[in-house]
Amino acid sequence: MKQSSLLAEKLPAFCNPCDLWYILRQMDKKLIDESKKYLMNTYNRAPIVLRKGRGMKVWDSTGKEYIDFVGGIAVNCLGHCHPKVVIALQKQAQRLIHASNLYHIEPQIRLAKLLVENSFADKVFFCNSGAEAIEGSIKLARKYAKDHVSPGKYGIITAQGSFHGRTLAALSATGQEKFHKGFEPLVPGFTYVPFNDIDALKKAVNDSTCAVMLEPIQGEGGVREPSENYLQQVRQICDENRLLLILDEIQTGMGRTGKLFAYEHSGIQPDIMALAKGLGGGFPIGAILAKEHVASSFQPGTHASTFGGNPLACAAATATMETLLEDGFLLDHCRRIGTYFKDCLEKLKKEYASYIIEIRGKGLMLGMEMTKAGDPIVESCMKMGFLVNCTSGNVLRFTPPLIVTEKEIDHLIDTLEEIFGR
Ligand SMILES: *Cc1c(COP(=O)(O)O)cnc(C)c1O
Repeated sequence: MKQSSLLAEKLPAFCNPCDLWYILRQMDKKLIDESKKYLMNTYNRAPIVLRKGRGMKVWDSTGKEYIDFVGGIAVNCLGHCHPKVVIALQKQAQRLIHASNLYHIEPQIRLAKLLVENSFADKVFFCNSGAEAIEGSIKLARKYAKDHVSPGKYGIITAQGSFHGRTLAALSATGQEKFHKGFEPLVPGFTYVPFNDIDALKKAVNDSTCAVMLEPIQGEGGVREPSENYLQQVRQICDENRLLLILDEIQTGMGRTGKLFAYEHSGIQPDIMALAKGLGGGFPIGAILAKEHVASSFQPGTHASTFGGNPLACAAATATMETLLEDGFLLDHCRRIGTYFKDCLEKLKKEYASYIIEIRGKGLMLGMEMTKAGDPIVESCMKMGFLVNCTSGNVLRFTPPLIVTEKEIDHLIDTLEEIFGR
């Protein structure tokens, strides 16, 4: 029903409904051709044009409806066009769209306060993306170590299979060679150790090491969880060697794993945390959070961003966070529905043991490792009205909005069963 009203919005009344789809498809093809002509070829894009989203649903330009289990890759945490986010943006857009950080900015202050009151951190720095939050975290860790430990400190240990972003230092921090290729020389100072190997981490620490940086659950690396006590042991190694612990919660943060931040599951706290993705509920924003003694190594002139803490971005993020935290409802829902989803995937695995190797993840950050490439399955799902993502070649990844319901999960599981059954 929604589908036809969407079509009606765009088409002249005299159009024959039988021809509608064909006409729209032609318009689409033209757009996609222009996309290829004018945009740099950095993404393997699916051949659809997304035009509209509401809650769990998105529609392409032919009016076809999809249930969105990608959610902008853990970005649209409240679903598409959540009314609270839309209203916050509209209001702020009428008031003040941008002001320089040469002045105090109210939406920034409100958001920083919310983040501090709900995390380990005492101070926040705002930027515009995940990679930028990582760059700033690296700079802050180096500066802190040089200020307080010794001038020869700069090394950061990260994990193999990690992903920290695409700018040069974030890329250098990323422990996957395939992302480095063609961009060498990398930024010096990064050492990679196997994730979940505490002895390897101990051995990698040397006189120049200043920090360890990890994702609490590896995302792009195939949804890989830390083993029992791993993060606690990492924290201990950091404390024993005067190293800072940086957690990259760009994907795991903002309720994704059923807690506001994934470190809460482990009982430990980082010294620095990078946020982005879900923070703005779909609006671009990144943040670096830190304890006071660390944050104070940033002084005027050490770090900055023209757009960082933009009023619109902060208004969207404040609305997103307030909605996430209201009575803890969405976080409870995420834990409960995430368990339900994981159980469903485990059942699917039993049924199709020859295709499915393992189900991993927490809350609504779930991965299904398969014996074969994921792309054909992603394509079949799309044809059948579901957006899902594949990472690391053979891991189907599900990062739906936190508002996803059992019914939508059941539909997806039925669809996957049908695809595997073929
Ligand atoms: C997405 C992601 C990044 C990079 O964020 P961008 O906003 O794309 O720069 C960094 N780290 C993790 C864990 C991510 O998932």
